[in-house]
Amino acid sequence: MTIGFIGLGTMGRPMAANLCRKGSSLVVYDVVPERVRPLEALGARAAADVGDVAGGSDIVFTMLPASADVIEVAGGPNGLIARGRKGSLIVDMSTIDPLVTDRLAAAASSKGTGFVDAPVGRLASHAERGECLFMVGADASAFARVKPFLEAMGTTIHHCGGVGTGMRTKLVNNYLAIISCQLNAEAIALSQRFGLTLEKTLDVIHGTTATNGQLKIAWPSKVFKGDIAPGFTIDLAHKDLTLIVEAANAAKVPVPIAAAAREAFSAARSRGHGGQDFSAMVDVLCASANIDKPRLP
Ligand code: NAD
Repeated sequence: MTIGFIGLGTMGRPMAANLCRKGSSLVVYDVVPERVRPLEALGARAAADVGDVAGGSDIVFTMLPASADVIEVAGGPNGLIARGRKGSLIVDMSTIDPLVTDRLAAAASSKGTGFVDAPVGRLASHAERGECLFMVGADASAFARVKPFLEAMGTTIHHCGGVGTGMRTKLVNNYLAIISCQLNAEAIALSQRFGLTLEKTLDVIHGTTATNGQLKIAWPSKVFKGDIAPGFTIDLAHKDLTLIVEAANAAKVPVPIAAAAREAFSAARSRGHGGQDFSAMVDVLCASANIDKPRLP
């Protein structure tokens, strides 16, 4: 069986590498040619374009930035649906608009191609170690087909329901994860302004119900050590908050906190911080208020 993989960025490269190392025969593609080289070194075949991946694969995984990219790769004239083998399966692991997922799944189905949404939880460091968490939307037979490959890339696989339920679960998850980031940034900036000791503030917070995972697990080894290399970028977090606001509005659910946080991320992007890790939101806020950046020794 040949496995296609399109989108070899921060998450896709290590995920595809784990498939290669664990014995899958891979054909890979990225618009940035250098991103293909590390996979070639592991034995993957470099495809000429998306159509080449489609024509040569039984299952194709995509790990792309945003809805427009998945629409082009899966739904375009040289895309996976138009050029794929009958009976093949597309597994989109990107975080995109769930209504786009629904549309692509219907278009794929009309051509006899299966479609699964399997967005990813956790961070790039987990992807490197093959410890991703997947939220999968799929019918039972497609889920059974794709599960062994997800197990090569991750340790936790949730079958959320039919197509589209993985993406919707991911938006609920990221709503909490990204809102926590903005909330942490505001609380830590306030602590800095008050002249409090960062270590003591964290000790107190982590001993009460205020605790959250970003602040407790991710930030002490990232932004508090001055490491703002992505990871999950401010640009991608902004994209997800926009998806969340739009999906919630489409479902007539008001999300005022999400809308306010999205504009804080908009402001960070307008000042040129979009490519930094989303934990850098605290540095951006401190800089804008002329407060020292919070750092642990
Ligand atoms: P990334 O920008 O690092 O990687 C995306 C890759 O897709 C790039 O290499 C880019 O060149 C390639 N690409 C773009 N358009 C393409 C096209 N038309 N054809 C082929 N390749 C194309 O992004 P990432 O951080 O790997 O994130 C990918 C997705 O996963 C996003 O939807 C993101 O929201 C989600 N996600 C990211 C993280 C994280 O921590 N970075 C965690 C979970 C989920």
